[in-house]
Amino acid sequence: MIEGLNPQQQAAVTLSSEHALVLAGAGSGKTRVLTTRMAWLIQTGQASPYSLLAVTFTNKAAREMLTRLSAMLPIHTRGLWVGTFHGLCNRLLRAHHRDAGLSQTFQILDSADQLSAIKRLLKNEGIDDEKYPPRDMQYFINGAKEQGERPDDMEAWDPHRRRQIDIYRLYQEQCEREGVVDFAELLLRAYELLVRNAPIREHYQRRFSHILVDEFQDTNALQYRWLTLLAGAGAPIFAVGDDDQSIYAFRGADVGNMKDFERNYARGRVIRLEQNYRSSGHILDCANALISNNEDRLGKNLWTDSGHGEPVRIIEQPSDQLEAQWIVDEIKAQIDDGSLRQEIAVLYRSNAQSRMVEHALFRAAIPYKVYGGLRFFERQEIKHALAYLRLLDNPHDDTSWLRVVNFPARGIGARTLEQLGDLAREHGISLFRAVPFVPGKGGGNLAAFVQRIQEMRFEAQSLSLPELIEHVLHHSGLLTHYLNDKEGADRIENLKELVNAAAMFAAEENMEGLPAGVAVQMPGVGAEPSDTEDDPFGLADSGLTVAAALSPLAAFLTHASLEAGENQAQAGQDAIQLMTVHAAKGLEFDTVFVTGLEEGLFPHENSILEQGGLEEERRLMYVAITRARKKLYVTLAQSRMLHGKTRYAMRSRFLDELPDAHVKWLSPKVRQRMPESGWHGDAYSRPSTNAIAPMAPRRASSGVTVGEQHFRIGTGVAHPRFGEGTVIGLSGSGQDAQAQIQFRDVGLKTLALGVAKLTIL
Ligand code: ATP
Ligand code: MG
Repeated sequence: MIEGLNPQQQAAVTLSSEHALVLAGAGSGKTRVLTTRMAWLIQTGQASPYSLLAVTFTNKAAREMLTRLSAMLPIHTRGLWVGTFHGLCNRLLRAHHRDAGLSQTFQILDSADQLSAIKRLLKNEGIDDEKYPPRDMQYFINGAKEQGERPDDMEAWDPHRRRQIDIYRLYQEQCEREGVVDFAELLLRAYELLVRNAPIREHYQRRFSHILVDEFQDTNALQYRWLTLLAGAGAPIFAVGDDDQSIYAFRGADVGNMKDFERNYARGRVIRLEQNYRSSGHILDCANALISNNEDRLGKNLWTDSGHGEPVRIIEQPSDQLEAQWIVDEIKAQIDDGSLRQEIAVLYRSNAQSRMVEHALFRAAIPYKVYGGLRFFERQEIKHALAYLRLLDNPHDDTSWLRVVNFPARGIGARTLEQLGDLAREHGISLFRAVPFVPGKGGGNLAAFVQRIQEMRFEAQSLSLPELIEHVLHHSGLLTHYLNDKEGADRIENLKELVNAAAMFAAEENMEGLPAGVAVQMPGVGAEPSDTEDDPFGLADSGLTVAAALSPLAAFLTHASLEAGENQAQAGQDAIQLMTVHAAKGLEFDTVFVTGLEEGLFPHENSILEQGGLEEERRLMYVAITRARKKLYVTLAQSRMLHGKTRYAMRSRFLDELPDAHVKWLSPKVRQRMPESGWHGDAYSRPSTNAIAPMAPRRASSGVTVGEQHFRIGTGVAHPRFGEGTVIGLSGSGQDAQAQIQFRDVGLKTLALGVAKLTIL
């Protein structure tokens, strides 16, 4: 099992049972070591498969871990505690739903659902959503939860914050009333369950003999506490990670956890792996050079003995359309040369970039899969269908209710809904329950909707999961609605795909079955004897067979919330892989295209002015580069359509950080330093020969004069509505002059200088 591993890897796999940290760069075999250690612990009898808890970052990574494990050992992987933090917490909460104060069929709100729940709350409470923007509140609430804070734990040091805490409290009450749980809540609830309930906590502490964590650099404060709590005094934590790949700080991840873990737990047991087995030399050297521009690193060195390989190729195209076309032509050539489609990945910084590449691939008839992002389960029509299904499962789910009560239109107006909402609040009941209180025609229409839902619930009882979904698509009126919609064809395709997804899901659930002897009973813990009503087989208690204890529909809905589209990639393997750089973490491909290397895009404009933002972007670029085994292409466009606007940007500063010796420019590498541009010191202007030169931003050295004011790149400005910002791009002259301004609060705006009332700071 450990043959073929290098001595450091072997040492890590066979460590004694103590806390340890493997700190190593990309492609050095961290994940392989972690998986091999699991197999080794089982093989040598130090642990039973069910006494291991392994956490990874994405569902895809968790699946891969199980696949690797079953390739090494002849064991059933079903029922193992291997998954994402969210997946594992979900499982804990389903098993102990009563102790956690939840109904067994609690629904999971994804981030869009959460946002609409917050909007609804603000409206109902008459709270000014300009003062308390829903997105900010979402960030506030999730941030608090990620720190493990409930409203009562939080200090209100000014009136604004006091109000935010109030809104958090009201939001939480709303979730409780509706029986829904957001992503951050999954973690916090599961943590609180373990903290408060000693028998449950001790049970799991006894049960897990070893805890293993991949991508440790991206754990947040709460996840870290959850892990150390579960470990208790007995179970060693084996953590692997790479501080240079910490890319989730914006979601509360704290790379400081690594230092803390080293100091408090893994003292003296830090293993470093330095040989990279993934990428060829030029690629690795580019990655090393790029990341060396970051400060405050834990410090690592990566080398490879696989030779230089091919240089990293860089190409600049006039537009994003041509960029996409070039990529697709190159992909075609590689496929003709015998490359496998699933070994080719196109990575991008922002989801919005995928459409252009998708379009080009589509026209070239090359199959592709989009991971994450415009996720299947996030599409409008799918969310509508899921909302109906959720209502069948739990009619008190107000978010789902509001999504479809008048979709397709059935004459239920805003006034009726407002009335319904008021009545529900007055009586402290769900919207569904409040229907009989609504008088008049509106009340009649609502009652008809309730009737329809009830009928569907009744008919659903005799149907299999895919049949049930088909039934709902017909009887909800969704299919008819989209049939009459001009752009409905795609949506109908997607709805059909939902039936397929359910069929696949059902088949997988049945096929895997349950391993014999897994359902360990846990007498006396958690649930009272009366639990038999919900759970006649006592399955929930074992914590192992939770999916089986849920109805197929509830299990599928959970799957839909948690996996949000990842399964489409699972199904069709032989396709080009499209995903954001974030989603590519931990994965590897023979050929990788990293696209959109433009200032404002990569590094992303939102991060540039933020403290530490640029370093996080650089780590993201490091992750992107290190996904490639043999061929790496870096592409950029001089102009790009994003969110309906054409934008022009400078070359990304990251291009300048790749050493000449390891790259090859396929387009002219005309570089012009921009003097005096303090803010954009490292960026380049576009070659003067480019096809769209007249429209390109003026170079910074001269700037633009409008009236009495002189603007340059880097000029600080204030706008009466948007607040303070910095000029990052200029174009045109005189009355036609335009500036791209990065505002501190509202992001990037393009303003006509002759019109905008700007003050130079
Ligand atoms: P990342 O930081 O990107 O998650 P990682 O450190 O987890 O990377 P792995 O994915 O475990 O790295 O390994 C990278 C590649 O190198 C894999 O294909 C793995 O099978 C291979 N590999 C790891 N160790 C060895 C070894 N000793 N001999 C040959 N190949 C190896
Ligand atoms: Mg890994």
